[in-house]
Amino acid sequence: MAKLPNVIHIGPVTYDVKLVRKLDVLGETDCDNSEITILRTGQSRSSKRVTLLHEILHAVIGESAVRPDGHHKLPYVQEEALVSALAPWLTAVLRDNPAVVAYLTADQ
Ligand SMILES: [Zn+2]
Repeated sequence: MAKLPNVIHIGPVTYDVKLVRKLDVLGETDCDNSEITILRTGQSRSSKRVTLLHEILHAVIGESAVRPDGHHKLPYVQEEALVSALAPWLTAVLRDNPAVVAYLTADQ
């Protein structure tokens, strides 16, 4: 069983990943503090994987789409809909296609 990583690199930014016992949502991303928080209890291991990828997508959008004035280009409701639609499917595609993961993550 793979362990939840303690850090995730989102381009040049390193995010700390924390598991907590209490949170109002399944996961949360704080781009200002480069931190992803995942709820430890109340969700299965497979749900935690989807939640982690969901939060990674928020971090990617947060790191790439922030304007100089600090506002996201994408309204939050649209970002949430996009991330929620993509995360379970991407998690499944990555899980079901290890050859694709190996190809995408190869150094050369
Ligand atoms: Zn979200």
